Amino acid sequence: MANDGTDTTEFLMQYARLSRGAKFRYVNGVGLYTAPQLARAAGFDHGFTARSGGVSIGGFSSLNLSFTRPENRDNVMENYRIFCRAAEIPFDGMVMDNYEHGTTVRRVDRADAGRGYLRDPLPLCDGLVTNDPAVTLITGHADCMAFFVVDPVRRCIGLAHAGWRGALGRIGARVVGMLTEEFGTNPADVLAAVGPSICPDCFEVGQNVAKEFADAFPEIPCVLERAGARPHVDLWMVAFRQLLEAGVLAERVSLFDVCTMETPRLYSHRRDHGNTGGMAAYLRILP
Ligand SMILES: [Zn+2]
Repeated sequence: MANDGTDTTEFLMQYARLSRGAKFRYVNGVGLYTAPQLARAAGFDHGFTARSGGVSIGGFSSLNLSFTRPENRDNVMENYRIFCRAAEIPFDGMVMDNYEHGTTVRRVDRADAGRGYLRDPLPLCDGLVTNDPAVTLITGHADCMAFFVVDPVRRCIGLAHAGWRGALGRIGARVVGMLTEEFGTNPADVLAAVGPSICPDCFEVGQNVAKEFADAFPEIPCVLERAGARPHVDLWMVAFRQLLEAGVLAERVSLFDVCTMETPRLYSHRRDHGNTGGMAAYLRILP
């Protein structure tokens, strides 16, 4: 794209008009967020968990869904059972990411059901795609973004975990690209949403990280300079940008617009100084 300022202006108008907002509800004590625009796609189910309704205690209280925290594995398994009952997800059919803050996206299907909790984990990957209604894609989060991608035409889906490194590496665009490669998705058909994560006001970074974003996304003002403070990065803007670059239409993207750090019912790695649990994003094709 030409960097004569026109593109930037148009982009900022699109970003200002972006569909924002999430619906929150409790099901049997388990808090679940959904994105209204994504929920309108018939035949799919998605959501993002909150802290309540589980069996974990202390900093993990109570629905910790992360196996990478120093917590009793049985508690996390029980939390997954509780979560699956609340969200009406078949317990045996989940496939979990095995994140490394990279940009690898893997295609999975029913042969991978149980990986990451009942069986060996997948090889390292931050993103998953499938067209198999027998599996539920799961990614883990505690400030990092979730990219939810649904193609209602080819009936396939993608879900990714994206911290700042993944966002910088454009894993959101990579998910869309994988859907095209594997299932013939036209990016213009796609609905995409970005899950609860650390917001632009809270995501303070060092100069080196700020420079990486400025270099990787030179056409957009994703680095926010604050007088007398460290720079901030608008990861939501970066997410939106890479989805547009991948061919997704602006009006088909939405933001949950929920900040993990400012929302007590959510875990936040940064706010809780690492003494915290993990939340799950989930996405599946209904059978
Ligand atoms: Zn915030």
